[in-house]
Amino acid sequence: MVDSLKILITGGAGYIGSHACVVAAEAGYEPVVLDSLINSNPIAIQRVGDIIGEKPVLEVGDVNDRAFLDQVFKRHQFAAVIHMAGLKAVGESTEQALRYYSNNVGGAMALCEAMAAHGVGNLIFSSSATVYGDAAEMPVSEAAPRSATNPYGMSKLMVEHILEDQVKADQHTQQHFWNIACLRYFNPVGAHPSGKIGEDPRNIPNNLAPYIAQVAVGKREQVSVFGDTYTTIDGTGVRDYIHVMDLVDGHIAALNYLLKRESGFSAWNLGTGKGYSVLQMIAAFEAACGKPIPHQIMDKRSGDIAECWADASKALSDLGWRATRDLEEMVADAWRWQENNPDGFGQ
Ligand code: NAD
Ligand code: UDP
Repeated sequence: MVDSLKILITGGAGYIGSHACVVAAEAGYEPVVLDSLINSNPIAIQRVGDIIGEKPVLEVGDVNDRAFLDQVFKRHQFAAVIHMAGLKAVGESTEQALRYYSNNVGGAMALCEAMAAHGVGNLIFSSSATVYGDAAEMPVSEAAPRSATNPYGMSKLMVEHILEDQVKADQHTQQHFWNIACLRYFNPVGAHPSGKIGEDPRNIPNNLAPYIAQVAVGKREQVSVFGDTYTTIDGTGVRDYIHVMDLVDGHIAALNYLLKRESGFSAWNLGTGKGYSVLQMIAAFEAACGKPIPHQIMDKRSGDIAECWADASKALSDLGWRATRDLEEMVADAWRWQENNPDGFGQ
């Protein structure tokens, strides 16, 4: 029997993937997770099961392993794939460029080959606002020029180009097989409101929100604020922070859209359209946890841009999706997760 509602979520044990499993199940899909667990903990999948009432199937293996992919695609008949598996630390990517290209670009190619071999053409790819580089105009729309300043960003951009070319080739040959969406995430923060799943960085957090949360819970001493001389509201960097639940809702909207379309390529920004500074983020966390968060102004981080926020109107007009959760809700949910799980999933 064809199980048309099964969705493969690569990287589904990770921060965003675990939340995607929850909303996919709630939307009536059956999520199957493929993850090497290189940056995640299988307890996350257990917790997803606690939330949705049934633990998703977890296929442990590498997305670069074609033989393993073939086994997974033989075991399950998927309606679509959400490809989130990837390495994501910008700093690390500048030191391990080959590893990033091999994992992120090689992984996407192996996955596409397996999808083609098994007749699955619907694909959602986790891209990033980093593909806009240092955009000249804000808010940044999907039509803005793309560039990358580090191997992580370049790996996302390369996969976008590969997927776009794949759809073009498909159209030239009138096959109409590939049906692809690149979702360009802005800055996901927050957690499921249950406090059962959330972001659990393995080492020192690279991103602002988990760093602030770890200072708030007493795991780290103070937040380093990377520069206060940008031409922004208070001199600190401005980003478009989006609640992870809004972000994953955007995937369901994109999935529903793809499943109604025969083939094609689309890119959508997933952001709120609003930017907040580092100091505004710290103040919001202080309000949520009811205590001061020690912080110190430091030098700018190399490669950082001053500000970035989304023009999110295309996702609204095409998908009927927009972010609905405000900053207060983002930090309240991030804090609930961190306070309930000071050591994350415990590793
Ligand atoms: P994450 O590290 O929590 O999740 C990624 C998951 O992929 C992990 O569970 C990891 O074990 C798995 N993985 C990595 N390489 C793999 C491989 N070769 N085979 C199988 N599994 C593999 O990261 P996240 O924040 O949940 O990000 C998910 C996706 O979204 C990534 O592709 C990331 O680049 C992208 N993204 C994230 C952000 C962000 O700020 N978190 C922003 C833009 C885009
Ligand atoms: N940032 C900071 N201290 C940190 C981490 C980040 O001041 O410990 C700043 C960073 O300079 C940027 C913003 O917070 O202005 C968001 O950084 P993050 O790394 O979370 O996202 P990205 O820069 O990739 O958008």
